[in-house]
This record gives sequence, structure tokens and C-alpha cells, in this order.
Amino acid sequence: MEYWQKELETISRENLEKFQLEKLQQTIRQAANSPFYKQRFKESGITPSDIRSLEDLKNIPFTTKEDLRNSYPYGMAAIPLRKCVRIHSSSGTTGNPTVVLHSAKDLDQWANQVARCMYMVGLRDTDIFQNTSGYGMFTGGLGFQYGAERLGALTVPAAAGNTKRQIKFIKDFGTTCLHIIPSYATRLAEVMYEMGIDPRKDTKLHTVCIGAEPHSEEQRRRIEELLGVKAYNCFGMSEMNGPGVAFECPEQNGLHIWEDYTIVEIIDPVTLQPVPDGQVGELVLTTINREAMPLLRYRTRDLTCILPGDCPCGRTHKRLARFKGRSDDMIILKGVNLFPIQIEKILMNFKELGSNYLITLETVGNSDEMFIDVELSELFTDDYSVLQRLTKEITRQLKDELLLTPRLKLVAKGSLPTQDGKAVRVKDLRKTI
Ligand code: AMP
Ligand code: ZN
Repeated sequence: MEYWQKELETISRENLEKFQLEKLQQTIRQAANSPFYKQRFKESGITPSDIRSLEDLKNIPFTTKEDLRNSYPYGMAAIPLRKCVRIHSSSGTTGNPTVVLHSAKDLDQWANQVARCMYMVGLRDTDIFQNTSGYGMFTGGLGFQYGAERLGALTVPAAAGNTKRQIKFIKDFGTTCLHIIPSYATRLAEVMYEMGIDPRKDTKLHTVCIGAEPHSEEQRRRIEELLGVKAYNCFGMSEMNGPGVAFECPEQNGLHIWEDYTIVEIIDPVTLQPVPDGQVGELVLTTINREAMPLLRYRTRDLTCILPGDCPCGRTHKRLARFKGRSDDMIILKGVNLFPIQIEKILMNFKELGSNYLITLETVGNSDEMFIDVELSELFTDDYSVLQRLTKEITRQLKDELLLTPRLKLVAKGSLPTQDGKAVRVKDLRKTI
């Protein structure tokens, strides 16, 4: 089966909106079966028949992560549990996780969605696809697994960790495509080079799908160069199924968000009003094809914007810009608001640096300071004066970007902790918070 779903992917806006309205109305009727939305609709005096246009969606209150936590585990189920076949949860570490229930039909749709994304970036049933995500509650494992099987690729469910084994599989099985977290992609490449393997010549890799955590354009280019591949940004979150919500097309300029699955809004996180295309705000999503657990106007806390204009690839579904981070990742230091990704963008431009870095915020005397430790790349010198000049230059560029001066330390390769899961880039040890 072909996963270039031309009719749906290039549908006119007018027809898409008709389609969305129909699906939205169905979803709202469905949502009203769940204890949570039953109560929500009652409180806000909404009945499903009040939603007559897409505009009317704005009358429905937002659903928040807190709502999901408070409904843990089954308060959002819109179908009987015996009709649900799987449960997933977010990678959150504090309090109750957010869980999502799926019916067999939901899983089927999700597999189609991921297969569509993979097909879009040129993957076919002739590909050998290795998934380095943890399988289990984290959706990057099973989500990609079923999508890749749906596409017909030969799948290697390697799961997370054990880098040497990953590399052995890549070589022995002739893996052509990886799904991998960006921070792990650079580590994997580094280990290959250490083992005397040049992935550009010694493997068949041509494509990687990178996602699950914010990363910069500079990091993507680095991954592409190191592995000799095309790297495509994929966005997903467990609340919205998982991978496949939005995915870059071959243009590599924005991620198409599949609007036949989701209605997208971007709001100002303070005023909660919509912001115009091109302006960064919080992503708010409504599922329109889920039966077990529909979510209406879900505040994702992720910050991005809709890219104005049409995509040259011909797909009409809106494009999201590369994610700036989450509203809860924002660092406020000395009154300046900034995101870790702004720092990464500068660091990744220096060939002398490796890919691992750690930002620590600490109170020194009466003042809060930012310390950045960044690993040098292996091949770089230990000549002190060269290192000093480099530190000065990087600090200057960081200051221009951040409007404050971080204390930068270049450290030996391998001296910062690494993880198999999503990278932790910021440690906040300030006394004031
Ligand atoms: P989880 O539900 O545990 O899979 O985590 C989902 C979260 O990971 C999202 O809400 C984003 O904050 C982050 N995330 C996933 N994919 C991307 C991506 N491509 N770029 C930036 N952040 C991402
Ligand atoms: Zn496109």
C-alpha cells in the first residue's frame, strides 16, 4: 500500500475545514461520554449541538496537563475499558503521570499516521528501520514500531541503550534508517568513529528521524554530517498518541501537522488569546479521530509558531516551526528570559566542541549565575592559550545571544554525564526559587 495519501495530504483548505468540522462534532459527542468531559460540559453549559462551526471550538474550555493528572487513570475514558487495548503514559517524573488509552481503531489510525510520515521522507518497504527508542510506556518505541510495520519496512526493534549492540545491528542488518533522540544520535556517531567505523562509508544509513526533545538546526546539521544522512524532525507527545503528530517533509522547513487528525491552535500562554501565524505561542491541540480518549483544546506547553505561506512540497497541512522549547523549560535569569536551545545553537557552530553540554544555574553570593560546561570534541587540542581564545570567543557569542554573560568551561570529552533517555540540559541549583 502507498502511504502518499495525496487526496488527504493536498486537500484544499476549504474541504479540509469541512472535514474537520464533521470530525470535531463527532469527537465532541464522543468526549461527552467520559466522566471528565461530561462534568466539564455541564459546568460550562455546553452541549455537543452548540458546536456548529470550527470557530465554536473556542467556546470549549482548555484541557490541561493538570486535568489529565487529576483524572488519572481512567477519568478521561470515553469508551468502556473492555474496548480499550492499550495504555501509554508520558515521560514526566513528578506526581501522577498523564495516561492515554487507546482502542484498536485508535492504534490502527496512529500506525497509519506514522507510516504517512515515514513515507513522506522517502522511506519504503525496502528500508531497514532500526528503532533506538525505549519500548514500553514511552510512545517512541511502539508508536514507530507499528508505523514502520504498516509501511512494510523490515524493523529492528533494538530499543534504547547498548550503543555497541546498536552499531553491530546497523552494520550487520544493513540498517538504512534510524529513529533516534538527537542527543543520542551524536553520541552514537561519536562511538562509531571511536570504533574506527565511518558511518558515511561503512553503513547503509541514509535517513534518521529525530525527535522527542528540542534541538537546534545546528544540531540537526551536525547529525547529518556525522552520520552522512538526512535527518528529519519529528514531533509527538503521548497525550496526542505519540510520534507522528507533526513531521518534516523533504523541504526540511517546518513540520506538517496532520490536520485530518488534529486541530491546531497557537495561543498566547498569558492572555490565552490566539496569536497570528508567524508568532510564537503555546501549541493547543484537539484530537479529531480518537475514540478511547478524545482531548479538546489540550494545552501542550510546547512553544512554536505556524509558518506562514504554502509549502513547496504541495501538502496543504499547516507547518509548525522548530520547537523553541516548553514553557516550563524557560530560564529566567537576572530578569532575562531564555531557552536552552539558544545556547545549543551557538555551541553547535563550533567544530571544536562535542555535542554534550550542561547548563547549571547557581546562586553565587547575592547573584544568580549561569555556568555552562561543554565537552570538547575528541580531536581538539589541549593547548591552554588556544583553549582560552576559544572560551573567549564562545562566551562573546553567547553574550550577544543571551544578553548576559555565562561562565563557560570547556571540559574533556566524556566528562559530562550521558543518558539513554531525553537529555537533561539544565540544573537549577538557585537558592531563590
Ligand atoms: P512524551 O509525551 O513523554 O513523549 O513527551 C512529549 C514532549 O517531548 C513534547 O510535549 C515536547 O515537549 C517534546 N518533544 C517531542 N518531540 C519534539 C521535537 N521534535 N522537538 C521538540 N520537542 C519535542
Ligand atoms: Zn512540505
